Amino acid sequence: MTYFEYISSNRWRSSTARLAELEAAGHRCRTCYAADDEARLEVHHRTYQRLGSELVGDLTALCSYCHHAITDALRRRRYASIRPIVVDTAPLFERPVPLFDPTMGYRRHG
Ligand SMILES: [Zn+2]
Repeated sequence: MTYFEYISSNRWRSSTARLAELEAAGHRCRTCYAADDEARLEVHHRTYQRLGSELVGDLTALCSYCHHAITDALRRRRYASIRPIVVDTAPLFERPVPLFDPTMGYRRHG
């Protein structure tokens, strides 16, 4: 089962840890306190160590906006030290290569 399949499954939706976290959070976002009738409430995985058999402490109830913002911030922090691979594309533009060979004329297939 892939991560996407799991997150979309009834097993995740009815997960004891997931439901316990929602209950403990009062069915509100832990960050902005939005209620589940004000925003789409989601449950964030703080760790994937026990994916499929999560403990309550592995999860945090968040609205979709805060979930996106927090996931984005965590990824930025995680990848901040990784230097991107820079490919020098300048030589490709110094001597343009034609998209087709004009001396070949047009060919019909078949
Ligand atoms: Zn929120």
